[in-house]
Amino acid sequence: MRVIIAGGGIGGLTAAMALHARGVDVQVYEAVQDLQPLGVGINVLPHAMAKLDRLDLLPTVLPLGVQTAELCFYNLHGQLIWSEPRGVAAGYPVPQLSVHRGRLHMALLDEARARLGEGRVLTGHALRSFTDDGRRVEVELECRGDDTVVRDHADVLIGADGIHSTVRRRFHPDEGLPQWSGNVLWRATTVVPGYLTGRSMFMAGHRPHKFVAYPITEPDAAGHQVINWIAELDRRELGLAAREDWNRVGSLEDFLPRFENWVWDWLDVGALIRGAEAVYEFPMVDRDPLDRWTVGRVTLLGDAAHPMYPIGSNGASQAILDALTIADLLAAAGSGAIDAALQAYDDDRRPTTAAIVLSNRRHGPEVMLDLAQERAPGGFADVADVFAAGEREEIANRYKQTAGFSLPSQRG
Ligand SMILES: Cc1cc2nc3c(=O)[nH]c(=O)nc-3n(C[C@H](O)[C@H](O)[C@H](O)COP(=O)(O)OP(=O)(O)OC[C@H]3O[C@@H](n4cnc5c(N)ncnc54)[C@H](O)[C@@H]3O)c2cc1C
Repeated sequence: MRVIIAGGGIGGLTAAMALHARGVDVQVYEAVQDLQPLGVGINVLPHAMAKLDRLDLLPTVLPLGVQTAELCFYNLHGQLIWSEPRGVAAGYPVPQLSVHRGRLHMALLDEARARLGEGRVLTGHALRSFTDDGRRVEVELECRGDDTVVRDHADVLIGADGIHSTVRRRFHPDEGLPQWSGNVLWRATTVVPGYLTGRSMFMAGHRPHKFVAYPITEPDAAGHQVINWIAELDRRELGLAAREDWNRVGSLEDFLPRFENWVWDWLDVGALIRGAEAVYEFPMVDRDPLDRWTVGRVTLLGDAAHPMYPIGSNGASQAILDALTIADLLAAAGSGAIDAALQAYDDDRRPTTAAIVLSNRRHGPEVMLDLAQERAPGGFADVADVFAAGEREEIANRYKQTAGFSLPSQRG
């Protein structure tokens, strides 16, 4: 069986390594000629880390980031609403990893090339079009740089080509641009002395005046860590300026004044923002869940299939879960049952990820922040006065169940 993957992001590369490990002949085509370590921080949840473990990738990826030990929610006065252990500290057999997206991407690229062979992960090849006769998919690729066109064919085409997927657009030509929530995310990293446990991810404020931060490197000799942070505000009045671009540079004056006075005894949020080298802005967008991903011998994976708000650490994690699922199903089915395997992949992953897309629109676990703001906008003497007994735990556990990483003790 031969599989072509369009898109060499985190999802496409993981799928390629998983298929290769199962004896499938794989070819990856990535549009960008010279892949760079772009992006800022992302989290990989324990169930996705367990999949990377199955590919023997933990020795490669664990040294790249920080093993998250806790997740904390604060109101905008810096008062603790909820905290829970994460990763190994919570009882998972593998960690949750907070890591620079670009470092993770480059490490996966190197591994994929080493395992599959250099020529099996070709950059500078953008999928332009394809035809599918029900048994064989023919693809046409544009070579960046010399404008030549290359043709190839396979039994299966996987569109892992991100939020602006060419493959998805072919089957859903009227879908238009991603849907904007009206919020903008400013993302950056800053080097500061570690705070809380040195492995703590926190979210503070409420929708749409929110701040998220977590360390993505271990402390250096002076105890400093690279902290990834995201500030979020409603910017509906400004309209959506341009097509979403993860690398568009943002300006401090657009958001810093709203966070300047967030000075708590363990962190000065304004100082953290001012210390950033470069700030990027990204509109908070997603797309409606689809009624199918698989059409004939073509299917979708990762952000091409289920772009979602970056809430709850699911963007990369769900792409990794897609990758292992499709690899297992195709390998188990063999060449005689490819259609059934692609349908089984669709039946398995599409409803699960659709539920996460919709839950993230309702703010996922961060709804706790909104409830705290609604019920106690000036703060509280005791958080137990603001939430009913068990309410916060129930919100946190429900989201983990939706995203597929709840422990048996957390299931209702
Ligand atoms: C440059 C960049 C920076 C990012 N930064 C962040 C971040 O800071 N924080 C965060 O939470 N998420 C970030 N993301 C998104 C995050 O990586 C994804 O949500 C998640 O990893 C799922 O990955 P994916 O492989 O499905 O999609 P992506 O990571 O988007 O990868 C898709 C790949 O497909 C390629 N591609 C697109 N069109 C074609 C085509 N026609 N033919 C061939 N290849 C094509 C793209 O160049 C890209 O490499 C970023 C994505 C990108 C591309």
